[in-house]
Formats: sequence, structure tokens, C-alpha cells
Amino acid sequence: MKISKPNKLYLIVFIVIASIFYFAWVYVDLIENERDILEKQNYKRQALSMQTRVAEMILTKQKSTVAMALSLANDENLRKNIINNNLSEKYYKNLIDKFKENTYYQNIWVHIIDKNVTSLYRSWVNDSGDDISGIRKDLVKVVKTKKISSAISTGRYTLAIKAMVPIFNDTELIGVLEVISHFNSISKQMKKFDVDSVVLLDKQYRKQLKRPFTNMFIDDYYVANFDAPVDIREYLKEHGVAKHFTSKYVLDHGHILTSHELKSLNGDILGYYIMSKKVQDISSTDLDFFVFKSLVYGLLTLMIVAGIINIFMLFKMRKQKKYYKNIMDTATNIVLINDKKKIFDVNKVFFKYFDTYKSIEDFREENDCICNFFVKENGYLQKDMDGVHWVDYLIENNSLNNKVKVDIFEKEYYFSLSASMISKELNHYSVVFTDITEQENYKFKLEYMSETDPLTKIGNRRCFHEKLESETVRALRYEHNLSLVMFDIDFFKKVNDKHGHVVGDEVLVEYTKLILSLLRKGDEFCRVGGEEFMIILPHATEDEAKKLAEKLRVKVEEHKKIVPITMSFGVVEYVKNEDLDLLYKRVDDALYKAKDSGRNIVVAG
Ligand code: GH3
Ligand code: MG
Ligand code: MG
Repeated sequence: MKISKPNKLYLIVFIVIASIFYFAWVYVDLIENERDILEKQNYKRQALSMQTRVAEMILTKQKSTVAMALSLANDENLRKNIINNNLSEKYYKNLIDKFKENTYYQNIWVHIIDKNVTSLYRSWVNDSGDDISGIRKDLVKVVKTKKISSAISTGRYTLAIKAMVPIFNDTELIGVLEVISHFNSISKQMKKFDVDSVVLLDKQYRKQLKRPFTNMFIDDYYVANFDAPVDIREYLKEHGVAKHFTSKYVLDHGHILTSHELKSLNGDILGYYIMSKKVQDISSTDLDFFVFKSLVYGLLTLMIVAGIINIFMLFKMRKQKKYYKNIMDTATNIVLINDKKKIFDVNKVFFKYFDTYKSIEDFREENDCICNFFVKENGYLQKDMDGVHWVDYLIENNSLNNKVKVDIFEKEYYFSLSASMISKELNHYSVVFTDITEQENYKFKLEYMSETDPLTKIGNRRCFHEKLESETVRALRYEHNLSLVMFDIDFFKKVNDKHGHVVGDEVLVEYTKLILSLLRKGDEFCRVGGEEFMIILPHATEDEAKKLAEKLRVKVEEHKKIVPITMSFGVVEYVKNEDLDLLYKRVDDALYKAKDSGRNIVVAG
């Protein structure tokens, strides 16, 4: 199947647009994928940074808890009191109050244990005398090794950070002082970084937790920090806790959640520090910049491609324009492109005629239309054809032989014209001017020859009949008079006989000139026979014609040049609707009467 040219163009345009859409779609998809990857990396980084931060905070807290425990354990009274079993509640309460005043530690607990791992004193509760060796392996280890220890640990109350310092009487271990600090201060600090915390104790320790301090649970997981936000607790309850025990992260309901394992001294996992951060609080400048950069690159690429296509089309158009210009220039006729108001282009031939102009712009500076050069003459195209623009007239009457007479700086040319519309959208027309000056002049010459007497150069018999016909029509239409004068040289044969034909011819020429000089403009003077002449006198009555004839008769008689001659005249007035043959006969008869009456007279018929 052959595809037509406009359809082919539509197909190409469709393919180009479809390709642009396809590539844009692929490109956007690519950006989205890349953005997703970057986003995931960003979340991963965030998760890691939260984990690192919380780990550091826990470590710092552990160290300072040890420092606190050391300062308390180094007290002489404490040793005495343990030996005497006289631990004053008031003493530690005062100490803890001082800590609260001077440090960020708002909830410090002091725990004193004897060498048998039996609790002697708890500052946070009135409860002592219980053996905790079963649930506090870390304490057992301190008693055994007699070394300071710091660990995350859980007992009957809570999950906390604990520093355990052995107390000696000389070299004998008499007990352990334990300072317990909580996760609240850490979660408070994490909040400053837009991180919400839920510190959980693993469910396997649920049973040993006889007196849960916060009394908050998620399923069987004990919540160790008071400030664990309700919404996150509820979320965890609803969606399950275990899936968040990961060093990676979980992205859910606009939050990223990750966790840090809380391990005991011997490496057992005691619980998890779960952190949650709103996605909107995570800086995405990098991502935004990536998307912006990608879009700018995409747009730039699109612009470059469009630019290349444009340049390609421009070259093609130029080539095509040159091609058509070449075709125009090979024509021998003037080809002119216009929109009925302005000329856009012409071919080379144009400047052969309008040689004072170097370019079409040059021409346009002085002339708004080539039609300014058209000569107003009957039978030729005008700028305005009864209210119709000349180009429209040409298009409507293209089948007619339209001709124009053009006066280009006093040189006259004749052109035949044809016009056609070359673009409906642009309203562009082409007009072709074909030079017919030679043919027209030849035609004029033939017309002149066929109607002119070669000797006297006035109209011949044929011319007379044509003029008589047109003038009688006019007289009828405009209702004016018309008269005819016919005359003949008297005894012309004798002139020829006596002086020869050549002189006879000279006489004919001389007296024709004389008569011509005595006539008015509009009078038609013709030689209708050898030495017979006719004058058509529009607007003249018979009387006026007779007067003129008499004047001519006298002037001829008086002229006497070459050979003196006289003439006889017949005069008639045209009668409305009269047959022209009859009119001719009447004037001929009048002339005959003049001859018959002795010649050199005027006779009206
Ligand atoms: P009339 O007074 O009756 O008119 O006498 P006429 O001799 O003029 O007679 P007619 O009008 O019949 O004469 C015609 C003559 O005119 C015949 C011819 O010798 C002469 N003639 C006609 N045409 C020409 C011409 O072109 N040149 C010359 N030299 N003579 C011509
Ligand atoms: Mg004669
Ligand atoms: Mg005659």
C-alpha cells in the first residue's frame, strides 16, 4: 500500500510525538526508580545513625553511672553500715536528691546488696532481704570476680542501666553497691533529634518482673521508658512488635522504625530500643536536588533534540526553498508570489523588466503593488475590476485570455496573465506574467494595415464601414445627429492623363492633408475609392455638414497646389434606424447629382 504525502507527514509527526512520550515515560520511570533507591539509602543511613546515636548515649550513660557508683561506694560510712547492718534510708535519699539537683539524672536508684547477693537496701522501694542471685547473674558475677561491672540489666522491677561496684572491708568483699539509671533521659535526648523511643524488655523476662516499675506493656513486652509515646505503643500493639527488632528499618504509616539490641553483660539480648522517626522530619534535600537535576537534564536533552530536529528541518526547508526558487528562475515568465497585499517573492526574470531595483525589498520600498504599473486601457486588466481585486479576478476568470498593459518607466509591455492559489492557509497566490509585447504590436500593425490606406494614411473603405457602424450605434444610443459627406475629384482622369499617375498620387496626398487639417477631432475621414472620400460627422445636422462641405469645396478650389483641382460634394443626414446601405446610396446619389449639376458644388440629399 502506498502512503500519500500528507498521510506520511502525519505518520512521522505521530511517531515523533509517540517516541517523545515513550522516552519521557521511560525517563520519568528511571528517575523514580533511582529516587526510590536513593530514598531507601537515605532511610538506611537514618536508621544507622539513630542506632549509632542511641548506642553512644547508652555507653555514655553507663560510664557516668559507673562514676556515680564509684563515688558512692567509696564512703566509709557505707562500709560500717553494711557491717553493722544499719543502712539509713534517709542518708541515700539525701544523696539521690543532691544528684537530681546537680545532674541530668532525675531518677537514680541505689541498690545495696550483701556478699550473698541478698538485697539489703533499695532506694526506690521499701523492700529488702530477698535473695536475687537467681535473677541477677551479673551481680553474682561481680561478687565472684570482685570487679566493677556495668551492664544493661533487668531484675524484678525494670530494665535499666546498672553500675555495680564491690565494697570491701580491707580485702574482704562485704557487699555490692549498685546504681541504676533509666532509659528516660536517653529517650528524652533522642526526642531532640525528632526520634521517639520505646524501650522494650524481651517477653522471656516477663515472669521475673514481679513489680514492673512503669506498668506499661505491649503484649508481653515490658516498656521501660515512661515517655514512650502512646501512638507508637498502640501502633506496635496493632502491627506486632517482633518485626521491628531489626538493625535495618521498617517504613510504615509515614514513619521509619528501627531498633538497637540491648544486651546483658554476657551477650544475651535483654530487649530492644525501638526508635521511630517521621519521614517528613528526614531531610530530603539530596533527593529533591536529584529529582531537580534529573528533570533539568531531561529538559535540556529534550531541548537539544528539538533544536537538532529544528535545525534539520530548517536546512531541509532551505534546500526545498532553493529548489523551488531554481524552478522559478528557470521560467522565462515573471513569477510573482503575493498575498494580494504584499509581494513575497519573485523570480529572476522580474528584474529583467524592473531593472532599477536590486531586490524585492528594494521594489517594495517604493511600490506596494505591481498593479501600480498597469495602464488603464479598455480591454486590459486593471488594479480594480469593478470592485474585484485583480488577483481574484484572474482566479475567477482564469480561462479568459487576460492581458495587461504595463508601463515600466516609460517602456510599454503587454503581458498575458494567469493566477493560482498556492496556499490556502497562508493565502498565497502565484501570478505568472507572460510577455506578449511582440505579438500585441504585430497585431496592432496588422490591424492598422488592414484599415489604413497606404497612400494617404487615412482610413480605407473597410475602416469607413466599421466607423460608420459604430458611430451610427453611438448616435442612436446618445440620440445625437450624424451626417455624411462624400466627395470626388472632378475630372481626375485628366490630371493623370496630363501629369502622370505619380503626380496624380501626389495630388491625392496633398489634398487629403488639406482636408484633414480642416476637420474637427472626432470627425472620421476615409478614402473609400480611387479618388472618392467620405467624412463621418458625429453631432452634425445636414445643414452643418453642408456648411462644412461648402467650406472644404472653397478651400480645395483655392488651394491650387501641384495641380489646381475642384471637388464635388454630396451631403446627407443619418435618419434614425436607417439601413446603412441606404444611407450610403443616398449620399452617393447626392454626389452624383453634384457631378451631374456641373461639378464643384455641394448637393444635400
Ligand atoms: P468625374 O469628374 O466624373 O469624377 O471625372 P473623373 O475623370 O474624375 O472620373 P472618375 O471619377 O470616374 O475617375 C476615376 C479616375 O481616377 C480613374 C483613375 O485614373 C483615377 N484614379 C483612381 N485611383 C487613382 C490613384 O490611386 N492614383 C491616381 N493617380 N489616379 C487614380
Ligand atoms: Mg472624379
Ligand atoms: Mg471617381
